[in-house]
Amino acid sequence: MELLDWRRLCRRSLDKEREGLSGQIVFYRQDAEVSLLSNGSSSLTSALAALSHVQKEIKVVVAENDRVYACVLIKENDSSLHLRKVAGSATRELLEYKVSQIVVDDKYHPEIVAESAVLSSYTYDLLYRPKDTPKDLVAIVYAGNNPEVKNAILVAEAQNFCRFLGDTPANLLTPSLFCSYAKDFLPSSLEVEERDRAFLKEKGMNLLLGVSNGSEEEPKLLEIHYRGRDDNEIDIALIGKGITFDSGGISLKPSEKMSLMKGDMLGGASVLSTMGVVGEVKPKKNIVALVPLTENLPSGKATKPGDVHIGMGGISVEVDNTDAEGRLILGDALSYSLTFGPKSIIDIATLTGAISISLGTVYAGLFSNNASLKDQLIKVGEAVDDPLWSMPCSEEYGHLIKSSVADLKNTGGRPAGSITAALFLSRFAKDTPWAHIDIAGVMAGSSTPQLHGDGMTGRPVRLLSNYLLMDQ
Ligand code: MG
Ligand code: ZN
Repeated sequence: MELLDWRRLCRRSLDKEREGLSGQIVFYRQDAEVSLLSNGSSSLTSALAALSHVQKEIKVVVAENDRVYACVLIKENDSSLHLRKVAGSATRELLEYKVSQIVVDDKYHPEIVAESAVLSSYTYDLLYRPKDTPKDLVAIVYAGNNPEVKNAILVAEAQNFCRFLGDTPANLLTPSLFCSYAKDFLPSSLEVEERDRAFLKEKGMNLLLGVSNGSEEEPKLLEIHYRGRDDNEIDIALIGKGITFDSGGISLKPSEKMSLMKGDMLGGASVLSTMGVVGEVKPKKNIVALVPLTENLPSGKATKPGDVHIGMGGISVEVDNTDAEGRLILGDALSYSLTFGPKSIIDIATLTGAISISLGTVYAGLFSNNASLKDQLIKVGEAVDDPLWSMPCSEEYGHLIKSSVADLKNTGGRPAGSITAALFLSRFAKDTPWAHIDIAGVMAGSSTPQLHGDGMTGRPVRLLSNYLLMDQ
């Protein structure tokens, strides 16, 4: 099958202006000269003064140089989240004027302006017809040399790629196609392996294979290696849940909103997208990334409630509910990751409905067996407005996932549902410092529509990328 043209959506940054109408976002303060905050001329200052009676947060000025300025009044101590939101709204204003590019200058929080412009101008328009003359999407132009701005653009483009994978319907994004997109997307500085069924069998990954039993599509394990140093020590293993469609299996989900389950691979997509950033920026770290991929469907061959599978780690699991499949495929991926001896592991998954009951669409849930890993992740999340909330992962909940026929049961019932899921995973991570990010609440239906629209959000690509690019 031909791949969709993701580059048109996700590679829109230029280093110089092209033909066509240009727009620009200008932050200004009531008490300051506009020229302090942008490269705008004094005519922009007077045009804004003339609009002082207009009671709008964003005032649009079409200047004589044919440039459209979306001017945002800000206060000195506005939070970075507020700046991101208003920059997103300003981008949407500029799109109303049909600008063909948004120019970022170096004056005032250019990294926030650039990132917000890239994110808020994303549109998933690949499947509309007719397709004969696809129009150019708005470009983001940055001609400066600030590496922070360049990285912000790169990360936002990767986040859009993650959204693209989430928005793409499951018939066009099978486990095999996910691997094809990975190979198309990743820079050549990375090593990519598409592990097939034979490999999964050889390794004894029966938890992953058991989930795929009901599907006609071949399961895969996407394995990505990045070497930023000469030694063989692995600093971090990143693992992302890659269920390309989750019907719940024999424990079938209700139909309402089931289509959203095309996004049940967003943990895996966030890992893949982040590795794209890593391959470009090249931090001095060694990183392994794993994405176990399969559909979860009912059929005569599907795993049944009560079935027991023994995974690669030798732990036997009673599959009490086939809709709790994410922890099964992640269990095998965690066991496999330990063979590389990583210093730490981070897994990302649209794991539980329970986490959205706890935290809604604002915070992703963070679970960990290691206090310093947890603290670092929370700090980075706060800094880039991709926030995490610390949740307990205490053994005191362990009785809920005890099975009478196996080592573990894959559900603990409704109480503490996101915690028992995390606790299940922790058994596979063993003593390695490990963190688990449950993104089921924040994957879509964003609390920041100015930035993330109403489709998939692509969180936590910003958090993961900035965490991996940090010096440690
Ligand atoms: Mg499920
Ligand atoms: Zn799922």
